[in-house]
Amino acid sequence: MQVVHIRGNLYMLVGAGANVTASIGPDGVMLVDTGLPGQTDRLLAAIQRIQGALLLDQARAARLPQGAAEGRSTIQDSQNPVPAPKPIRYIINTHAHADHTGGNAAVAAVGRTFTGGNVAGNIADAGEGAAILAHENVLVRMNTPTPGQAATPFRALPTDTYYVDTMKLSHFFNGEGVQLMHQPAAHTDGDSLVWFRGSDVIAAGDIFNTESYPVIDLASGGHVNGLVAGLNRILDLAVAEFRSEGGTLIVPGRGRLSDMGDVAYYRDMVTIVRDRVQALIDKGLTVEQVKTARPTFEWDGRYGATSGRWTTDMFVEAVYTNLKADTEARRAAAAATRPGRRP
Ligand SMILES: [Zn+2]
Repeated sequence: MQVVHIRGNLYMLVGAGANVTASIGPDGVMLVDTGLPGQTDRLLAAIQRIQGALLLDQARAARLPQGAAEGRSTIQDSQNPVPAPKPIRYIINTHAHADHTGGNAAVAAVGRTFTGGNVAGNIADAGEGAAILAHENVLVRMNTPTPGQAATPFRALPTDTYYVDTMKLSHFFNGEGVQLMHQPAAHTDGDSLVWFRGSDVIAAGDIFNTESYPVIDLASGGHVNGLVAGLNRILDLAVAEFRSEGGTLIVPGRGRLSDMGDVAYYRDMVTIVRDRVQALIDKGLTVEQVKTARPTFEWDGRYGATSGRWTTDMFVEAVYTNLKADTEARRAAAAATRPGRRP
């Protein structure tokens, strides 16, 4: 596991599947996504290492009288023991995919919510583990059985969902507000951007990544236009420090920590590819002809792939499928309202 300190209480944990954003501080731990199922022990070990280092610093600072030499503090160790780490209180899922929710059950089991069992509402055991926040469609997707796959365990399912545009935590956590923003029909139909409002960091889930073309999960309600809208929303929220560099930081679903300039470059790429594919559809080209026309060619060196879980062909095909369906729907609607047509 690679740990990147982002800013303030926020860390990016890399290597458990998708990137995990962690807020670690005096109120406990909040995680955005939980990685792949088999990676939970490594994820928890990394969090404990960060907590351990923070608590040791804190204890040392409390122990040392102003201007004292460090070697003198040993006698006072028993009076200022290193405090116990705070529990994991919240998990936020950016969407339902297994590389983002796989650790939910195991991570939630070691955590505890603020409210505890008595006031946790309609879920009887919510007090026993961390609360899991997500858009309603994440719960629906995770709770819909897939043929040939085991059902998602109850403890892995979101405990608190929202169905409107945004949801915010009702109180500060580790010194800042946290807001979830739903991005309809983008990577899936249940994507949330998670905005840490004090640190000014946005966890983008799989709406943004620095390693491949954006994955459009058609079977889960994904759409290229929603992806572009999601990238534009990040750019609306973000403020650069200088020109398009620095300032608001963005944690991608996969890849390296990014700023506004990175997201703008990616947004431009997706927008140009989308518009090219639309132009080719308007000329009547088939999906195979569109692929041969290589609408992505300038970016294939950076994002392209011919094998693996998301190839260039799969991306072009997904964009084509989205736009072709929309084009046909528009034509049918226009034909239905054409003057002179009788029902
Ligand atoms: Zn995903």
